[in-house]
Amino acid sequence: MAVVAAALMSFTAAAQDTVITNKKQAELIIPRPAFQPVQSMDPTTAQAMDTISTANPYIKIILFSDYTWKYIKDPEYVSNNAVFSENWTHDYPDPYRVSLESLPNEMGIWVVDSLSQYRCPNQTKVYSKFGYRHRRRHQGVDLPLQTGTPVYAAFDGKVRLAKYYKAYGNLVILRHENGLETFYGHLSKIMVTDDEWVSAGSIIGLGGSTGRSTGPHLHFETRYKGYAFDPEWLIDFESGVLRHRFFTLKKKYLNASSNYVPEDEQEEIDIIEGDTQDKEEAERKAEEARKAAAAAQYHTVRQGDTLGALAVKYRTTVKKLCQLNGISEKTILKLGRKLRVK
Ligand SMILES: [Zn+2]
Repeated sequence: MAVVAAALMSFTAAAQDTVITNKKQAELIIPRPAFQPVQSMDPTTAQAMDTISTANPYIKIILFSDYTWKYIKDPEYVSNNAVFSENWTHDYPDPYRVSLESLPNEMGIWVVDSLSQYRCPNQTKVYSKFGYRHRRRHQGVDLPLQTGTPVYAAFDGKVRLAKYYKAYGNLVILRHENGLETFYGHLSKIMVTDDEWVSAGSIIGLGGSTGRSTGPHLHFETRYKGYAFDPEWLIDFESGVLRHRFFTLKKKYLNASSNYVPEDEQEEIDIIEGDTQDKEEAERKAEEARKAAAAAQYHTVRQGDTLGALAVKYRTTVKKLCQLNGISEKTILKLGRKLRVK
């Protein structure tokens, strides 16, 4: 059992340490299951009975009273992750103040890995979608429920905010190891406290209609660095299924007018956009090359010229001269040779 755990961990660690920027790269190194749907976990009524160590100090096995078991990451290991200390406040929803320009165009995110689980926060048809609604920005999805219905943590994480906050009413914000945050608004009751660690499937509160709300529903948001994106990219709320373990978050999704599009449609859009990007990129490179050629300067080698002296004269370096002309510092300069100096 310990050997299996170590192997699982090394898969997780290796995959997470690799910087993946697009799906094509991802598919080369990430196993296929990463792109398969994950079922919402069943609420277990079994009690945790015991914890067993494995060969990896960060991985434990929990045994339950119904003879089932699961791997967990030691919370101490997770808590060392800077994601749980940086931009950490209990006071307001967006502590990041990061500019959109500073974010990469695509970010590869493990929504759940081989050691974590997922639970649909409230399984139902989406009543009101992400995006503009009567010219007002709607940063999440509205999921109807009856007041008092349990609302579940979608993923393992730590409570970043748990209080009444303006239009959200009773609001819980969880931050997850991958940097994503999930918001649960309009709760009738909050059942967690600031800085508490929660597991996927824990009840974080009861559904309600507090704040600016016309009837009982869960307002659910997913955010990255403070920017909301359509939660339907991650979750099919009607079936309760998480669409993928691995998610490519594109910067353009971090916008209230960017709605979830089914994958086959998205692939077509990507191909069209990919073509135009390539064309722009090619034109930009060609333009750069033209500019460089226009700015080029030459020197005809005369008696007594050395690379060192030419470097001083043209305010450049010997290294740069060698690069421009494809020569080495030891190359003998023939009289009359034209050297590019800029
Ligand atoms: Zn809402």
